[in-house]
Amino acid sequence: MRLVFLGPPGAGKGTQAAMVSERLGVPQVSTGDILREAVRRKTELGNKAKTYMDAGDLVPDDIMLSLVEERLAEADCRKGFILDGFPRTLPQATALDEVLARAKQRIDGVVLIDVDDNEVVARLSRRRVCPKCKGLYNLDSEPPKVEGTCDKCGVPLITRSDDSEGTIRNRLKVYRNETLPLVEYYQAKGILARVPSEGGISKVFSVIMDKVSGMRQG
Ligand code: AMP
Repeated sequence: MRLVFLGPPGAGKGTQAAMVSERLGVPQVSTGDILREAVRRKTELGNKAKTYMDAGDLVPDDIMLSLVEERLAEADCRKGFILDGFPRTLPQATALDEVLARAKQRIDGVVLIDVDDNEVVARLSRRRVCPKCKGLYNLDSEPPKVEGTCDKCGVPLITRSDDSEGTIRNRLKVYRNETLPLVEYYQAKGILARVPSEGGISKVFSVIMDKVSGMRQG
């Protein structure tokens, strides 16, 4: 299965993509995680991306495209993948289709996880992340067992530097302007499934799995 997960920041894309990836046995390709790792290691890519990320702006398409093309060419993506956070602009989406078409492949389905703006701000300001396993927590709905510590790794949880209210508002604006047109793009192809982000993590997961099992693999 080759899937794309779409949705505003804070919709639960990363959490759900990780769960679906485990269930389907295909890798989760999170462009945000790849970029954050590059920033942490201070690579050339990381240094270029950091200013955009800190402001909540998008990293330029050409940088993103070569990053994703390289990642999808790795052996573990041969049997499928879940793209989490990519594409985020129309040029990224059309370029992705071209890259896949060259390998006689295509996106089988797009899962759009929907949530309203105020809920996004509330969720993200309460979000904490494990710097080691990238595990996600929410101080209200999914708190760690020991305050401030990852359940799996035992290391201190951190707040993402772009999870401050001003940056969150900008990320939402960028989502509306740049990423929302993709909803129409994939709807026109007949491969879009809408899932409201409500009822809790396992409820959303089961709705997604229902929709994914109805998607045709090409
Ligand atoms: P995320 O973890 O998906 O919320 O991504 C965090 C940040 O990484 C975004 O706010 C962007 O600055 C950057 N980023 C991640 N994916 C993309 C993408 N497909 N295109 C442009 N920028 C991206």
